[in-house]
Amino acid sequence: MSARAQIGVTGLAVMGRNLARNFARHGYTVAVHNRSYAKTQSLIEENGSDGDFVPSESMADFVASLERPRKVVVMVKAGGPTDAVIDELVPLLEEGDIIVDAGNAHFPDTIRRENDLRAQGLHFVGTGVSGGEEGALNGPSIMPGGTRESYKSLGPILEDISAKVDGTPCCTYVGPDGAGHFVKMVHNGIEYADMQLIAEAYDLLKQGLGASAAEIGQIFAEWNTGDLESFLIEITADVLQHVDAETGSAFVDVVLDQAEQKGTGRWTVQNGLDLGVPITGIAEATFARALSGSVPQREAGRAALPAHTQEWTITDRDAFVEDVRLALYASKVVAYSQGFDQIAAASVENDWNIDRGAMARIWRGGCIIRAGFLNRITEAYERDADLPLLLADEYFTGAVGNGLAAWRRVVAGAAQNGIPTPAFSSSLAYYDGVRAERLPAALIQAQRDFFGAHTYRRVDREGTFHTEWSADRSESEA
Ligand code: NAP
Repeated sequence: MSARAQIGVTGLAVMGRNLARNFARHGYTVAVHNRSYAKTQSLIEENGSDGDFVPSESMADFVASLERPRKVVVMVKAGGPTDAVIDELVPLLEEGDIIVDAGNAHFPDTIRRENDLRAQGLHFVGTGVSGGEEGALNGPSIMPGGTRESYKSLGPILEDISAKVDGTPCCTYVGPDGAGHFVKMVHNGIEYADMQLIAEAYDLLKQGLGASAAEIGQIFAEWNTGDLESFLIEITADVLQHVDAETGSAFVDVVLDQAEQKGTGRWTVQNGLDLGVPITGIAEATFARALSGSVPQREAGRAALPAHTQEWTITDRDAFVEDVRLALYASKVVAYSQGFDQIAAASVENDWNIDRGAMARIWRGGCIIRAGFLNRITEAYERDADLPLLLADEYFTGAVGNGLAAWRRVVAGAAQNGIPTPAFSSSLAYYDGVRAERLPAALIQAQRDFFGAHTYRRVDREGTFHTEWSADRSESEA
């Protein structure tokens, strides 16, 4: 077996197969391997004409077919299977070779694997890949971690196959060890928030206006021509206008209203709690999915809970649609602002030195949250790389401020009419919380000192204090 392939892919289910085809279409000679040989054969039979593939049945032959330093992309089921494949690969590799885990690994696993492999002289590049199977084939957004040194030889290949926006690749070096998978996790968390916000906007238009799915689809199509322009708004317009062939009803009306929440949304929220970063938009979106799937609770609630709603008469349809649009945009800015705070906090905690503006840039194309609006985020971080709050950037202050009255009307209207808008409402609450001169956390500090002697700080002098609540209420410095 001559070592002539420039890159290899092991794991040829839908994602690996499409990534391998993408490499081949860009002129690379691609070594391909899968645990069961049938998938390798079917790739060669069905897509062999995409370019130059070197198929191997055994892992040893696969590794032997790669030029040095070897670059092996692992695209298998996340978790145990990834470890199993790494264990099989390592004895076959040599110092300086690069293993790229392009699956959806949890970033602590990536940190662990990178540590282990670095000790053995290998590079391990945990890489976020977004865009689903279509992106993998035609250009995904790629978020590689690992060493800078590995990026020197691997980066140009990944940039080549990534999506391009205005000629710029949607791929850049993210940071050491788990940084790439971390950023992909937050991307997915933001995706949860974005989808929930869109769903709430749909529900408001449906219940507020009594509009049909197709009519709302047209509204979304119109929104997609402005500030909200994005892949998710575009597919929402499409989905809402789709008619179920069997019943002739709007497709969305025949789909069961129970959403799933799997790995990445949950991980993002768990990490937000670990870091103490209020990612309320992502958390509410994740819990809204959990609520939708809480079947016995929903049955009990439907049967027992009164609504006591007020009459909501919308007299100006266009004005209401515009209010919902502005509220959606403002809530979306909050969700992104929070997600970027989470990236900043993790970057400090792990010494990753992540450039947030660059992350917004590589999310502009290929991935699920791709949107014109990400340009504004990159510009904000170009103005100030250490921006403490995205919302406080001059562009976003103006854009959100513009829609503030509308946002308040929409959230108040939804509350009075019993329309659940957890992400719209919590985003507004976050906005008001983060801009508040003074928060009631002062009372919470006092309560904690009362029952647990947890101490407090004062506004008028330095130090930490405790009051003798059950004795003479004297104050002492702790
Ligand atoms: P998948 O269904 O997650 O995994 C199937 C692949 O894993 C097959 O090639 C299978 O080999 C292999 N595999 C499973 N257990 C194995 C083991 N113990 N040893 C060796 N190989 C094993 O495939 P996928 O949907 O293409 O996704 C691949 C990765 O990309 C996953 O980590 C996924 O989370 C991530 N991802 C997916 C998407 C998406 O939109 N689908 C997007 C981004 C990232 P056999 O054929 O022999 O069973």
